[in-house]
Amino acid sequence: MPHDDHDHPHTLLPPDPALRVKALETILTRKGLIDPAALDEIIDTYENKIGPKNGARVVARAWSDPEFLEALRADATAVVKDMGFYGRQGEHMVIVENTPDVHNMVVCTLCSCYPWPLLGIPPGWYKSDAYRARAVREPRKVLADFGVGLGDNTAVRVWDSTAEVRYLVIPMRPDGTDGLDEDALAGLVTRDSMIGTGLAVAP
Ligand code: FE
Repeated sequence: MPHDDHDHPHTLLPPDPALRVKALETILTRKGLIDPAALDEIIDTYENKIGPKNGARVVARAWSDPEFLEALRADATAVVKDMGFYGRQGEHMVIVENTPDVHNMVVCTLCSCYPWPLLGIPPGWYKSDAYRARAVREPRKVLADFGVGLGDNTAVRVWDSTAEVRYLVIPMRPDGTDGLDEDALAGLVTRDSMIGTGLAVAP
């Protein structure tokens, strides 16, 4: 009867992940191994200061500047680093471009690899077992769940992120945006459109 076995180490940790994290944080803080203020700072940085707006700037510029797009294709890591977007989980960036023929979608089937310096912290669903399994098995259905309907002539290509490579989807530029500058264009680029589970929004 495992649930009555209080010596079992798993019973020391609550089943809910958030509670488990809190318990670990408390223990590590008490042992003086971590500083809670520093942790808050890291989380705030990725949640609020970085966030997906960095990626949106990259996409907007790629839409506006063909030479920049070429450079991104050749070495995205170096180009975004020049823009100041680098750090943990930002190594080995590769862009994948949506076209009328191909829609790209990113997943990490193994865990939750994600380009933090460009998109911030991954959303909960990105880390879920369901997304990680279904994105590969039935990508069109997953896209439909996200409200993305693709024509039959558009192929879906799913990219599996790893610690080695992180992908940034360059969504298609919406129609009717010819006169917009980079700032206005960046406002059309959603987080999900850069994961491939959404599209850029029309102005
Ligand atoms: Fe991963």
